[in-house]
Amino acid sequence: MSVDRRAFLGAAGLCALAVTGTRSLEALAGTGRPETAPQGRRVPRWGMVVDLRRCLQADGCTDCIAACERAHNVPRLPSRAHEVKWIWREPYERAFAQRGSGYADEALRGKLVPVLCNHCDNPPCVRVCPVKATWKREDGIVMMDWHRCIGCRYCMAACPYGARSFNWLDPRPRVKEVNPDFPTRTRGVVEKCNFCEERLAQGRGPACVEACRERALAFGDLRDPGSQVREQLRSRHAMRRKPELGTEPSVYYRA
Ligand code: SF4
Ligand code: SF4
Repeated sequence: MSVDRRAFLGAAGLCALAVTGTRSLEALAGTGRPETAPQGRRVPRWGMVVDLRRCLQADGCTDCIAACERAHNVPRLPSRAHEVKWIWREPYERAFAQRGSGYADEALRGKLVPVLCNHCDNPPCVRVCPVKATWKREDGIVMMDWHRCIGCRYCMAACPYGARSFNWLDPRPRVKEVNPDFPTRTRGVVEKCNFCEERLAQGRGPACVEACRERALAFGDLRDPGSQVREQLRSRHAMRRKPELGTEPSVYYRA
């Protein structure tokens, strides 16, 4: 492992607090006032909006996936049984199985859509972890502590989106080019998308959002009515994955 993971997580948390309210994060958050800042403090609620029309224009593009893998030392493993996924693509019918077989979304059928951890407001993965190796931050990001994880995989069983991967093999020799600024993981721990919390702590946006040349991904503060994500959600119908489960995902899809 290139960086002490516990120290990294602690530092990232402190940095996140330090930069809240800086100009860079305000750019992500927008200009409006937050709707519900607990205890009067300015705490964002991070969320993502995926524009399926824009993403589909670049069919076959995997720039967001490659950028995430580069940023987070995600190993490339050819076998499905061993693969590690932070952001990946699913056929529309599988990602939105609850949509039924109507004709309304005919244009989307058979298309691949990007999926990732939903950073659920009500995350079942967090509830089942026996050692508190995963938890939800005040800003909504569902975190992982890879030092603490004992590899029981309860969280994987609880996640209804398949958003968590287990390192069956040592991932380190399988990372294409190690990014020294992000920790590598070991065999026997679970990992997933972290909403690029380490980049947010530096006032930057997520790597996948930055990499998308079609600007199909937007990221920002869902509590802020003036943010880009809220504007996008206002302007067109959006859906979330498996809303019937009550997990309250913070990743939205504009149809
Ligand atoms: S998508 Fe899965 S891993 Fe992510 S917060 Fe929700 S339940 Fe947890
Ligand atoms: S938000 Fe960051 S960690 Fe999550 S899929 Fe995008 S690049 Fe990967």
